[in-house]
Order: sequence, then structure tokens, then C-alpha cells
Amino acid sequence: MGITEGKPGHDCPRCPRLAEFRQTWRTKEPSWFNAPVPSFGPINARLLIVGLAPGLQGANRTGRPFTGDWAGDLLYETLGRYDFAAGEYAERADDGLELIDCRITNAVRCVPPENKPTPAEIKTCRDFLKPTIGEMKELRAVVTLGRIAHESTVRAFDSKLSDAAFGHGKKHALKSIAIFSSYHCSRYNTNTGVLTPAMFRKVFADVRAYLDAA
Ligand code: URA
Repeated sequence: MGITEGKPGHDCPRCPRLAEFRQTWRTKEPSWFNAPVPSFGPINARLLIVGLAPGLQGANRTGRPFTGDWAGDLLYETLGRYDFAAGEYAERADDGLELIDCRITNAVRCVPPENKPTPAEIKTCRDFLKPTIGEMKELRAVVTLGRIAHESTVRAFDSKLSDAAFGHGKKHALKSIAIFSSYHCSRYNTNTGVLTPAMFRKVFADVRAYLDAA
């Protein structure tokens, strides 16, 4: 199965490098998910969070965005704090965690080698990001995690990058949707102090206030 209704199929062939990498991991770790990771959360949510791509041992293993790696620990803890998530996050896709008025997707759906998708892969996978945004009829706000996710999202809105420059804590309006950009909540960014949990919380506090006022 390749592509159905704007969603990548389990064996999406569109990025040969990523398909080959995925096949390698299917052989090495047959119990892992090892496929394009679907979006998580209700389609009628007002908030969409756009990450970069599945982590090898995180979303690529568990099949749910940000689930099973450090980035998810910080993201899901923060979402719970601002009532965008309910239940216990237990690093498994079947932990019963629910997202409330919030959905999570990735700019690139397949795990890339060394967490680095190429520009061509980012562009190709935008064919799935665009319909993900388009199908969210109640969408009011997007949080972009990191520059790559931000720029792919801006392009998915058919806007120019200069209309919404990336910067941690910045907010732009694209087609009446508020775009909040944040540094990515990766272990690297938090270990190096580029992003502190307090800086990350502030982004979601701003989003909460924005949606509550809407
Ligand atoms: N896991 C994801 O699903 N996306 C990221 O950007 C990082 C980790």
C-alpha cells in the first residue's frame, strides 16, 4: 500500500532512502512499528503540533508520535500541564493517553537516518502534511517544533518563509491560524540548555491563553 487519501501507506515508497532505512529496521527489529507514523489526536482539535520526524527508538518503534523517547517525556508532560492531554503517558502507544483539543503530527512521517531528513524528503512528505492541516476544520493554532517543522508548515500553508520567520516564542498568523514556533524539545536541545522546560512551558501557556480567549 503506497498512498491513500492523503495519508502514507504502510509501505510508502516515495522516499527511496527512507524506504530502504525502514526495510533495514524491519529486518533487524521485526516487532517495531517501522512504518510511516500516523498523526495522533482528534481531527477536530483546535491545536496541531508539528514535529520533525519519528525517532528511531521512539515513534518508529512504538508507532505514535513522540512516544518512547526523551522528546516525548517533555512534550507529553507539558501537554498534560496545560490540559491538552489526559491520562498517564507511559511511553507506549497503548498507554491510554488521550489528547484533548490537540493533535500531533510530523513534518516527515518515516524515521530518517541520524534524525536528518533531506530537503527532498521534507518536500515530498509535505504532500501528507498539507492534507493533515486541511482536514482539521476547527484548527486555530499550530505549534511548530524546530526550524524544519516550522518551515515545512509555513510552506504547507502556501506562505513565504519571510511571512513567518522561525524563532523560539514567536507567533505569526497564516490564513487566520496562529503559528507558534518553538525550539524542538529534543534531548540535545534540552541537554545543551538551548531549550529549558520553562521556555517550552511558556509556549504552551501562550497557546492555552490564545485558545481560551478565542
Ligand atoms: N518523535 C517524533 O515523533 N517527532 C519528533 O520530532 C521527535 C521525536
